[in-house]
Amino acid sequence: MNPEPKAKATTPSGARRAPSRTHPVSATLFRQVYDSPGSLPGATAWVTSDADVRKLEVLLALPEHTIGAPLWVSGDRRDCPSCGRQVSWLDIVASALQGIHDKALISKVILGDQRFVNVEIPDGIAGVVCFSCGGAIEGIRSFKCHNWAYAHGDIARLVLAAGGA
Ligand SMILES: [Zn+2]
Repeated sequence: MNPEPKAKATTPSGARRAPSRTHPVSATLFRQVYDSPGSLPGATAWVTSDADVRKLEVLLALPEHTIGAPLWVSGDRRDCPSCGRQVSWLDIVASALQGIHDKALISKVILGDQRFVNVEIPDGIAGVVCFSCGGAIEGIRSFKCHNWAYAHGDIARLVLAAGGA
């Protein structure tokens, strides 16, 4: 049902980044992380607009309306400082496709059944650029969907104690 991606990395963090930060977890543990207030740090949290979700599907070569679950973003400001575009998963994924991750891997995270938790402390997501103007986006603290979330503090320790999968 879920063929292994061709990529060498076995986790969405990719082999060239520290893979130990990303842990496959059980649905139960994932729910705890997802529901914790700490999962969306920063001044504000918002959901990727429908228009951006449709563009994201095009970018990932997925059929329209494949992505149904809300794609959350959080941080200290919502908009691109250069052009005012509201930042979303589209900017984050388009930036990641520049080198860190491949399309199949990202699609697997968004659409697959396996839940992943990233335990790096989300002071900021590095390397995000604006989808519209290419300007640097700083201050995005985390993002989450029904399969992917960030954890830090006590919840992260819980994930680490579970030992991944
Ligand atoms: Zn911009």
